[in-house]
Formats: sequence, structure tokens, C-alpha cells
Amino acid sequence: MNTLAVDFGGRRIKLGLVADGVVIAEAVIAAQADQHLRTQLGRVADALKQLCQQQGIGFGACAGVAFAYPSIIDVPRARILDHFDKFGDAASLDLRAWAQEQLGLSLAIDNDARMALVGEWRHGAGAGCQNLVMVTLGTGLGVSAIIEGRLLRGVHGQAGILGGHLTANYDGHACVCGNIGCAEAEASTWALARLAHEEREFMGSALSQEPTLDFAALFRLASQGDGCSIALRNHCLRIWSALAVSLIHAYDPEMLILGGGVMGSANTILPSVRGHVERYAHTPWGKVRVTASTLGDRAALLGCEWLLREQSAKEVKGE
Ligand SMILES: [Zn+2]
Repeated sequence: MNTLAVDFGGRRIKLGLVADGVVIAEAVIAAQADQHLRTQLGRVADALKQLCQQQGIGFGACAGVAFAYPSIIDVPRARILDHFDKFGDAASLDLRAWAQEQLGLSLAIDNDARMALVGEWRHGAGAGCQNLVMVTLGTGLGVSAIIEGRLLRGVHGQAGILGGHLTANYDGHACVCGNIGCAEAEASTWALARLAHEEREFMGSALSQEPTLDFAALFRLASQGDGCSIALRNHCLRIWSALAVSLIHAYDPEMLILGGGVMGSANTILPSVRGHVERYAHTPWGKVRVTASTLGDRAALLGCEWLLREQSAKEVKGE
């Protein structure tokens, strides 16, 4: 049976047709996160229909639709609990009713970082491991944990996924979550422009000439010797490394997976985080493996298939 999977990012929405751990077909549409989610759902429905038509598959041959969404989610009720300045009407929408009316399908939804970890756990870097944490380095810092083979969700749906909002600087800047100095506010794509302007040498730097101030530009210019870029890159590496140690101390994983678009610079990031973890994480039982995602942006789509199966199994049991 096929699953329709939708991964809502800050800048783009990724759609996939998934069957038995394989993404058969995929498509991407722009996110338009400053607009209402209800408007975007119409575009999502159209794109899903097109995806299925291209494969000669009707919605009747799909088990349902599953969303990976960047927020705190009430998974049993399939409701989005917080909008984090994206898709402002998200918390008001009855997504199950939408899926039934527009697609004739059942719907499941969970946090996007959680679904990326599940994808890696079932089919990628985390296969065979039952204690793992993943950090997705991107627009924000997505975090999720699996402990003793169980996906950590918590009574209010927020366990594990607020790892990017652990305080890294008690004197730091305001974060989208309401806290100050979160790891995400200190080293993520959305914080990068502000962090760059705070660097003393920024105005005369090569970084200030970049049309798009992102991590690809930052790592490229740092490797070319731009002083401002080197200082900012090293700051971000230290924040991510300190966060890795905090997450290891919190969740007792055997493996830490790093994913997300920023891992295009894995050659610099992995050795740096590994070295810091080996030196500073308190793990007398042995070493935590620090590794890169192997599924890239397909991880959350594959996690969605698992989510829909989990929900179907609960419905059969009457939970
Ligand atoms: Zn925060």
C-alpha cells in the first residue's frame, strides 16, 4: 500500500509517494510560510494528485496521507499546537477533516525532526540502533530522540523535539520559542544574518558581499580564509558541538545523527562535533557514534510511512 508523505519545510514543501521504505516519486513546491496553511493545503492537494497521476496510481491505492510538520503536534488528535511564525492559521485547522474532504484519505501528523529520525532509524544511518538522537541543521535546529526503541514524544507532544531550544547562551538573543539564547537562536540559518552583523569585521568582509547569507556561503568563504567567516563558522561549530554533548547527557544515545541542508559541509562539521563529543561527553560506558544522515531530505518522507502504519495499528487495537 502506498503512503502520501508531505514534509513542510520553512522554504519548501516536499511531497513523496512512498511504498515499503522506498520513495517512488517526489516533488517540491514553494512553502510560502508567511501565508495561511489553509491556502497551502490546496496547493499540496493539487501536487499530490499530480504526483499520483504521473505514477498511474489513484488515491484509492493509498493507505493515507502523513505530514511531517515543523511544530509541536498533538499526534492523537492530529492538531498543530504552535505556529512558530510560520503558516499563522495552522493551529486552527482540522487536518483530518481536510484530508477526508479533499483526498478521501485518513491523515497522520507528527513533528518533522521526529519523522526524519524515524526515517533514518528504519531505513538509514540509524538502522539496527535502538538509542539514537538526531539533529537537523537547517533553517532551525530540529532535534528528536529514540530511547530503547521507543520514539520519545512526551505527554504534551514536546519531548525530544525542543533540543534546539536548550539554552546555549544565558545572555543571548530572543528565540522564536520565547526563550533567550537557544542553540537555534545562536547557530541556525534564520539567525545567521543577525549573527554575521554582530561580528566586528563583518562590514569589510567577503561575507558582507554575498547576495545570500547562508551556511553554504559561510563555509565556502571560511575555507578561503575570510576572517569574519572563520570566526562565525567556529562559533556555530562550538554551539552545535556543545548542543551534541547536552543531548548525549539528556538522552543516553549510542548514536548521534547529523542531517539537514547545512550538512553539505559535513567534511568540516563531522570531525569538529566528533572531536568535541569524544573530549567532553560523559559516557563511561563507551563512545557515542557521531555520523551523518544517509537519507538526506527523503528521511522525513520515509518516517511518514512509519507514522501512518503506527496510527493504523493503533486504530485496529482501538487505542
Ligand atoms: Zn528557542
